[in-house]
Amino acid sequence: MRPLLFAANWKMHVGPRDAREYLAIFRHAYAPLPERQVWFFPPAVSLEAVVEGLTHREDLLAGAQDIHWEPKGAYTGAISGPLAAQAGARAVLIGHSERRHVFGETDAETGKKVDAALKAELLPVLCVGETLAQREAGETVAVVTRQLAAALENESTALDKVTIAYEPVWAIGTGRNATPKDAAQVHAEIRQWLKARKAGTTRILYGGSVNLKNAADLLAEAELDGVLVGGASLEPAGWAELVRTAAA
Ligand code: PEP
Repeated sequence: MRPLLFAANWKMHVGPRDAREYLAIFRHAYAPLPERQVWFFPPAVSLEAVVEGLTHREDLLAGAQDIHWEPKGAYTGAISGPLAAQAGARAVLIGHSERRHVFGETDAETGKKVDAALKAELLPVLCVGETLAQREAGETVAVVTRQLAAALENESTALDKVTIAYEPVWAIGTGRNATPKDAAQVHAEIRQWLKARKAGTTRILYGGSVNLKNAADLLAEAELDGVLVGGASLEPAGWAELVRTAAA
């Protein structure tokens, strides 16, 4: 069995009290399985509750959904890498399509955030992916490699600490997902890009409307090292079942 990573992006859902209840149910429903890790990305206000809920479970980890690139300062509403780390985060999502397309985050900013994450000893999960218009124009690989280069070109020595999540924008929260073959094709391109930089161990996740019905088919593709899941991770028993049953 190859190691698989299941990442849950709760977006703007699940406050601290709900997170405690969620994890009590999840831990009961999901006992550790070999070669399988589950990472939770709660909203910042729930980070500490999640970290407390994960104690004594080496297979589970908490991360932040975003960080600012500065370690501290007058950035109302933002959190920094050191602040997230102090709350117990060990990873961070960077460049999620909602950050890029709703909040206008640029490629250059993702690069600064990856750098800030590594400085704060957080494992960056860099999200890349094309819009529908870009896909239809045949620009998928160009867009994804541009996003990789912008965020990671300066990090060649640290690529083993980075996880990539390929998330086509048109598949996120829409109920449409890439076919396993479509996803695997883009993953192979990403892997080529990484190999050219001597990064042989960087994991590549797929994200975009993954659910209990389609996860096993997606993970049957050897190119996929795991999944990043929004909507289908919000209900603890269903998420536990997805992680347990979506076997490689
Ligand atoms: C996500 O938030 O990264 C995501 C993939 O969401 P969903 O699974 O709801 O499409």
